[in-house]
Amino acid sequence: MNTERIKLQIVRKTFCLTLLFVFLLSCTHTAENNGSMIGSISETRSEYLKTIVGQLSGKFELKNNTFIKSRWSVTERETSRKYLKELITTLGIEVKENEYISPNLNPAIDLLLSPFKGTNVYGILPATTQSNQYIVLGAHYDAGRENAPGAIDNATGIALIYSVVRELSSIETRNKNVVLVFFDQEEEELIGSNAFIKFMKAQEWNVHSVHCFDMVGWDGDGDDAMEIYSASESLLNTYKKAAIRLKKPLKEIRIDPVGYDNNGTDFDAFVPEGFNVIGAGECYYHRDSTPYKDSPDDTYETVNFSYLESCTNFIETVIKEMVRS
Ligand SMILES: [Zn+2]
Repeated sequence: MNTERIKLQIVRKTFCLTLLFVFLLSCTHTAENNGSMIGSISETRSEYLKTIVGQLSGKFELKNNTFIKSRWSVTERETSRKYLKELITTLGIEVKENEYISPNLNPAIDLLLSPFKGTNVYGILPATTQSNQYIVLGAHYDAGRENAPGAIDNATGIALIYSVVRELSSIETRNKNVVLVFFDQEEEELIGSNAFIKFMKAQEWNVHSVHCFDMVGWDGDGDDAMEIYSASESLLNTYKKAAIRLKKPLKEIRIDPVGYDNNGTDFDAFVPEGFNVIGAGECYYHRDSTPYKDSPDDTYETVNFSYLESCTNFIETVIKEMVRS
């Protein structure tokens, strides 16, 4: 081997090593930018409820130096999804996405506007025993308007579900599977939850019950009451029994499923499809609900966190019993 060839080989090797070094450097750099958004999560419920609501509503900066200011536009909803996927991962649950495309009602509009495209984010906490039954816990993650931080509507519902599932994962015997799902596009005529209903039907899940949470952060009259609405006698009774034991005040609305046709909250999508479904949250229909819904004032500062925690404790008790039975 002559010296010229050796020199050439050294030059080539140095070149390759430099390329590899630059590549590795760029990888760490990307990892820094796209890395953890959440950071470490406190063990204490009262603390992490605040962290999650604050991070989802632009109060707290994320660990990758960005803010979620409003979960409204396509790009903001995408950032929110990344956050939610990481949140589900911290529970040790595999994250899945349910992407959908629904055409606009008028196909001619599709030529001008793109059809509704969105993504629900979900995960399954499996039963520890043989079970084909599924309990579904759902909350929408989109905000109602551009510039609406959506702290109460509906970062509170997301934080509640996260917290409940976190406790469920430590139960030794779970006799039912639990699905947690964060719906896209609730604010656009329930497109996200309707798409998830289609998906669940295609999966042929044996759905035991669906529990929807929307807005759990306002208690103007200080009575600590949670509102529940359902057409299912058995679900209403289960909630009421737990409420008596825990001394949690409830306000109940019995829904007539016949001819039910509302588009206000995800719960409404499940009723006409015949699901055993219940909705819960602050007393929206009893007029003790945030006055800042769909506005730039739906902020972290307006959330009553002791109320959110009390409702989370209550829902945890209800769902735990259901999962065990
Ligand atoms: Zn809502």
